[in-house]
Amino acid sequence: PTARRGQHAVAPGLDWSDEPTLTALSQLMAAPHLPVHAAPMLAAASATAGPERPVLNPAATTEVVGTVQEASASDLATACDTAAAFAPLWAALPAAERATALERAAELLVARRDELLPLLCREAGKTLPAALNEIREAADFCRYYAHEARSQWPERMPSALGPVAAISPWNFPLAIFVGQIAAALAAGNPVLAKPAEETPLVAAQAIRLLWQAGIPHAALQLLPGGPELGAALVGHPAIRGVLFTGSLPAAQAIHRTLATGDARRPLIAETGGMNAMLVDSSALPEQVVQDVLTSAFDSAGQRCSALRVLCLPTATADLISDMLRAAMRELSIGDPCRLDTDVGPLISAEALARVEAALRDFVEQGQPVYQPPLAITGGHFMAPALVEINALSRLPGEIFGPVLAVLRYRPEQLPGLLAELDARQYGLTLAVASRCPSFVEQVTTAVRVGNVYVNRNQIGAVVGHQPFGGERLSGTGPKAGGPWLLWRLLRNAAPCAAP
Ligand code: GLU
Repeated sequence: PTARRGQHAVAPGLDWSDEPTLTALSQLMAAPHLPVHAAPMLAAASATAGPERPVLNPAATTEVVGTVQEASASDLATACDTAAAFAPLWAALPAAERATALERAAELLVARRDELLPLLCREAGKTLPAALNEIREAADFCRYYAHEARSQWPERMPSALGPVAAISPWNFPLAIFVGQIAAALAAGNPVLAKPAEETPLVAAQAIRLLWQAGIPHAALQLLPGGPELGAALVGHPAIRGVLFTGSLPAAQAIHRTLATGDARRPLIAETGGMNAMLVDSSALPEQVVQDVLTSAFDSAGQRCSALRVLCLPTATADLISDMLRAAMRELSIGDPCRLDTDVGPLISAEALARVEAALRDFVEQGQPVYQPPLAITGGHFMAPALVEINALSRLPGEIFGPVLAVLRYRPEQLPGLLAELDARQYGLTLAVASRCPSFVEQVTTAVRVGNVYVNRNQIGAVVGHQPFGGERLSGTGPKAGGPWLLWRLLRNAAPCAAP
């Protein structure tokens, strides 16, 4: 049954202690995989086909998960024209009607779990728990934005923007992809969705499902392709706003493009982070280790929210660091389709090479690196690594993988360290591990970020309850899964009272 939390329904989870459930899951994941095909999904017929290429499994690089045909320039033009023509009709519908279709989509996402799970694991290298959570999060986004639209605009609603580009990342190929789409649609905007180049197959399945739920084809079209297609989409005059999650340079490029035309076109961007966890000597070491493992190495560190720099007080640094190394040796790295895998692959050979090069740089700078041996080959695997750094300035920027920097500090160094962290201008997640309220207060007032977590891990924000997003170099806001996003997707509209 669907549980109710807050005001919107949330998708159910799995009972991981139930043997029959786990057996069924193993059988599902072991079943032969049928290749999936993705192509531009337009309301009008596609005139000229773009190039076709295989999509490979990052955990088994000889396995073809499916094929993708990319959108051509003429597909892009056709899709934008259709969306622009349909925009007034879509915006004129009562909010409740669009909300109903999104709620149906949420039901379908949950009902089609067994089809989505293997694809998420094979195409995106997601571990099973991560893939399950992603399906739930996608459904929650649909229900949350549907609920928001219904309750904010029971009668007339403010004007929608018009066609919106939704450009999403490979690390959440379902949740962020569907979340962006659901927000834009709920606010009355047609969507042109460009999924990440690495994960077009999950995206195509999601569009099929949203169409099946009753979203008109002209309100939601899929344009698979790479960065050039993304740039052309953002630059198209029909586009009235952009939802983007990805790298900082890409967000800055979109910002520049939007600024050259009609400056009222909003960019809602979520980029990277230099996320820290600040530990004091009152923190429970076992809990710190558990939370660090999840924060830094879940999804092989390929989350914007992931922990990048762990700041330990000298008093307990040796103890925590030893425990952490021992726990890292116990992590099982490998095939994400297996139930006992903790850490899956990196998304691509290029991503792996980038992260390994960053690790080599640390070694060359004389910063000690700890990395347990790796027993698996055949995919883009990497053993999680720990780097002892002696200054924050050693960190080059965001390393998008399972590399955790550890910095030791003495109590008198804390104010300077916090000031330095804040001065790096990233502001996504921050965790504090302490049993001392004044320490929590000191850290959380000194470092400005979007999401703060106290005595827990710093990933997996829950839709509607922990709106997710950063500030400064980490994003423009408003946060995903929070009450302000829909308002930003309207023309000249502001809520009269705080939602
Ligand atoms: N919302 C995700 C979390 O809280 C992170 C999203 C991302 O990596 O972009 O972990």
